Amino acid sequence: MNRPQAPELETVVMKFGGTSVADADRMKRAAGRIVQAAEEGIRVVAVLSARGKTTDDLLAMAHEVSHRPDPREMDMLLSTGERISCALAAMVINDLGHEAISLTGSQAGIVTDTSHTKARILDVRADRIRDALDDGKIVLVAGFQGVSTAADVTTLGRGGSDTTAVALAAALGADRCEIYTDVSGVFSADPRIVADARKLAVVSFEEMLEMSASGAGVLQLRAVEYARNHAIPIHCRSSFEDGPGTFVVDEHTTMERPLVTAVTHSTDEARITLTGLPDRPGIAGRVLTVLAKATVNVDMIIQNEPHSEGHRADMSVTVPRSDLPAAIEALTPLKAELGVGEIATDRAMGKVSLVGAGMRSHPGVAAKALTVLGDADVNIEMISTSPIKISCVIREEHVKNAVRELHTAFDLGADAVRREDVAGDHRPVVEPDSGDGDA
Ligand code: ASP
Ligand code: MG
Repeated sequence: MNRPQAPELETVVMKFGGTSVADADRMKRAAGRIVQAAEEGIRVVAVLSARGKTTDDLLAMAHEVSHRPDPREMDMLLSTGERISCALAAMVINDLGHEAISLTGSQAGIVTDTSHTKARILDVRADRIRDALDDGKIVLVAGFQGVSTAADVTTLGRGGSDTTAVALAAALGADRCEIYTDVSGVFSADPRIVADARKLAVVSFEEMLEMSASGAGVLQLRAVEYARNHAIPIHCRSSFEDGPGTFVVDEHTTMERPLVTAVTHSTDEARITLTGLPDRPGIAGRVLTVLAKATVNVDMIIQNEPHSEGHRADMSVTVPRSDLPAAIEALTPLKAELGVGEIATDRAMGKVSLVGAGMRSHPGVAAKALTVLGDADVNIEMISTSPIKISCVIREEHVKNAVRELHTAFDLGADAVRREDVAGDHRPVVEPDSGDGDA
């Protein structure tokens, strides 16, 4: 056999989201893109998500028959959505005259831990994919799933196909990881809220991590973490339009960044306040441990010092609204154990965040942001910061307005003249040695 020498050919991982394969036409369009890349001589691994609302439908199906679906069986069920997509795409590609093979996560060698419905990838044994590529095949891998160290099917958490794509790109030493989605890239704010939101040419891993963690739904947080840890550049782009989207790259390869890059938001937060906590060492740790054991993701934490006499403290935390019942269930026994006064909840909370690598070296962003919100009559309930982010918890009903006000105040709109635009088009400058190229 005269096999092509692998190192000479480019390898690209292309991931298509659920809307990009939702119906027959879209599936054919995605397959067309895959085939086009293959015809350019690229070794293509395509990771597909479940079609349209399939995963939601499967979840609903499980809850129709069971109050507490067994997590192992849930993974058996949920993993089917991505298999459907891959098998169908392989059929289309075969009809187009190319050889394609679809693989489950397990067949693709994605090994995870045993935490069903939110498994973490431990290892990628990509030999089977490599062999198929060497044989000239296009490889389709079912996203969002793997096989556990106990040989069971696992899934990686909602949006997990992004992580599959990045993990495969890392394991294969791919030249690029392209995430095809229903938006044309990463924006300076949600374009459904801010009319002049601007598509960002380039975002650093650190910025993208903060953005994904604070509500930007375009890339799964864990995928960005994985990409950063393995230095895999991501090109996030539209599956419906041509042209570049947003490059998520190492900070050193980005150009000089503006102070603020984006405004992100979420409207599904809830706040829990524990009043009258004993003021002694170990209490906060106890509260957080209880929540962690219930796998409740705590975001912000605020503790008020007691008003001297009573030696009692108040503590507020924010959690995703969907975690609220589990959080309350877990915290209630603490009332007796610690002598907590009251557990109060507020379901209608939201959050608005400003993210920008430039903040690190420029003070004053927080002062300006808080002033802008104050002038807009938005009451700030909690604040947290990182070196490149400031987040404010506000009432959910104020979120849209807060996003717009901040976007305008920090000049993030499409009309604002930006340094990187002056050079010409929106393409990022990528250092030649980064191994990353344009699509
Ligand atoms: N199908 C899964 C979900 O809807 C995984 C993914 O789309 O990435 O969350
Ligand atoms: Mg998705």
